Amino acid sequence: MHPFTYAKPKSTREALDAGRRGGRYIAGGTTLVDLMRETVERPDQVVDISSLPLRDITVTSRGGLRIGALVTMAEAATHPKVRTLFPVVSQALELSASAQLRNMATIGGNIMQRTRCTYFRDVTAACNKRDPGSGCAAREGFNRTHAILGTSEDCVATHPSDVAVAFAALEARVHLLGPGGGRSLPFADFLLRPGSTPNREQALKKGELITSVEVPALPRPLASGYLKVRDRQSYEFALTSAAVALHVTGGVIREAKVAAGGVGTVPWKLPAVERALVGERPSEKLWAKAAASAADGARPLQHNKFKAELLIRTVERQLRIVGDHA
Ligand code: SF4
Repeated sequence: MHPFTYAKPKSTREALDAGRRGGRYIAGGTTLVDLMRETVERPDQVVDISSLPLRDITVTSRGGLRIGALVTMAEAATHPKVRTLFPVVSQALELSASAQLRNMATIGGNIMQRTRCTYFRDVTAACNKRDPGSGCAAREGFNRTHAILGTSEDCVATHPSDVAVAFAALEARVHLLGPGGGRSLPFADFLLRPGSTPNREQALKKGELITSVEVPALPRPLASGYLKVRDRQSYEFALTSAAVALHVTGGVIREAKVAAGGVGTVPWKLPAVERALVGERPSEKLWAKAAASAADGARPLQHNKFKAELLIRTVERQLRIVGDHA
């Protein structure tokens, strides 16, 4: 492991100062420590922010949710307000990782987690994300689990988080605090597509840390849920997934929020699917018609051509499941 120093700031100000000097924030440590062991990440200083006061889950005045960055995945998944207001968030968390990891990993760390592309974690392989300009071994390698949407010539890795797909669907905001003050970003702007700089994954400025993720209030009643399709039923990343929320009154869909996971270089919002649903009456025909556009723009690789069809079927199935409860 690369030699590093460890700091545990007593205040947010101390943490931000350390971050501004180039320190790498760590909380649950479930991603970063592994990457440091494999020498994929080699920070000179690790700044342990686990004791900062960012552990609250609050219902906002309009009925949204604000989840502190240091809330663990397990705490968020089982919180009564998360379960009742946004089951899609709770389900996405419960279908992630293992129980042990969910007890340690935080919401902030989850959305910051790095790709599971095997070439990224193999320091002998070419990888533009780990080593800019070195190439992309996945393009010509075994790319069955890689992305089909939002890819570039330089990187085709998926974003691995499940709850990020729910946040993308619900149009959450990420609240940040940096040496220069606080700001917030729409979730869609927080995670970056690879383009020609796949090493840059989030729209964070130097020293900024995530303080919370805010899910906006949505009209009620709201039915929502998360479906994850994977090679085995536990401790596995998504081949495809779908986060869906529907507001239906008078037998008509008034609002629809839909995003997909396991297929994009970032959680993949599906606005065309949403548009096809709004103003319509739920029906088997509608689910199929709306889901048909889910893979529009897909650019499959040699080994993951199956993902486009699987994505369409995953979205259709989850529209039906959520629609039956709306
Ligand atoms: Fe690296 Fe991205 Fe290529 Fe994987 S897909 S090897 S992360 S550049």
